[in-house]
Amino acid sequence: MRVLVYDTHSYDRTFLDAANAGRHQLDYTTAQLDHQTAALAEGYEAVCLFVNDYADEPVMARLAAGGVRVIAQRSTGYNNLDLAAAERHGIVCMRVGYYSPYAVAEFAVGLLQTLNRRIHRAYNRTREFNFRLAGLLGHDIHGRTVGVVGTGKIGAIFARIMHGFGCPLLGYDVRENPECLELGMTYVPLEELLRRSDIISLHAPLLPSTHHLFNAETLAMTKPGVMIINTSRGGLINTEALIAAVQSGHVGAVGLDVYEEEEGKFFRDLSDQVIDDEVLARLMTFPNVLLTSHQAFFTYEAMTTIAETTIQNLSDAEEGRENSNVLRAG
Ligand code: NAD
Repeated sequence: MRVLVYDTHSYDRTFLDAANAGRHQLDYTTAQLDHQTAALAEGYEAVCLFVNDYADEPVMARLAAGGVRVIAQRSTGYNNLDLAAAERHGIVCMRVGYYSPYAVAEFAVGLLQTLNRRIHRAYNRTREFNFRLAGLLGHDIHGRTVGVVGTGKIGAIFARIMHGFGCPLLGYDVRENPECLELGMTYVPLEELLRRSDIISLHAPLLPSTHHLFNAETLAMTKPGVMIINTSRGGLINTEALIAAVQSGHVGAVGLDVYEEEEGKFFRDLSDQVIDDEVLARLMTFPNVLLTSHQAFFTYEAMTTIAETTIQNLSDAEEGRENSNVLRAG
């Protein structure tokens, strides 16, 4: 298949080329897919997308008009795709249904401990030969109540790691995961999880039902001093409400690998530009907010599986084979 790979970085190319081994014709562009750049796919049978390439109705229409009939999303999350529009335009959408959930869960724990023990601040201090400890006081994690919102593949691994730390586990999900129940997790309504958790980690997908699940009202229900970790999708949190809760001192620490306005910023070097995003700039001013640019998935193991699955998805689509990574609307 002729495939245009959007939003490409050197590492995408390395892993995709290795997995492809000449099976498909992969052409790469650094452009992100949007209304303007959809025309670049004219004449291609497939496009390969990442999390901040968005394909709404007009983009789907433009892709289909140019001959695209397959979208291979190289991530598990696919909230950037309008699946109903894809179906109307005869485009089959596929994703990477599974890759190392350890990558994201382990990263969430990394954010948690960095914030808790102020490792990010210690790193900066010691590089300037400042060896004072004042301001670096943390807590034992052992015994702290951890709330997991979304207890699927990643949430369950995160829960298992926190169980290893000796933390009581609370879960909130639309369905209970037997693996989490085995760890002793207690499933509770969201309000109870908010009230009782010392640490809350988000692992639910971005859906209409989870959009701004964390807002002024729900943040006010959390324990004073709560730590919130989000490695899922930025849209789960109303960032302005989060800033107000950090500013007031109610929320004690925040680790964000995702941000609701990350599109066009994350995965880019903007270090020599003035950032035109007041909310992002405000987030950066808090010493107890740690932001990373959607890197939780970024391990060698995850990148290998993502690339291999993406190539297999393209081959299955080309040869009309059944594939459980096909996404359906509704
Ligand atoms: P999964 O489908 O295995 O688990 C998601 C869980 O969320 C399921 O148990 C589901 O029942 C639950 N859920 C659905 N709707 C819900 C609701 N309204 N309220 C509460 N729970 C709800 O997915 P996963 O592989 O564990 O991935 C979780 C999310 O992590 C993905 O959707 C993606 O957005 C995000 N992710 C982020 C990165 C990163 O690099 N930061 C990488 C991979 C995935």
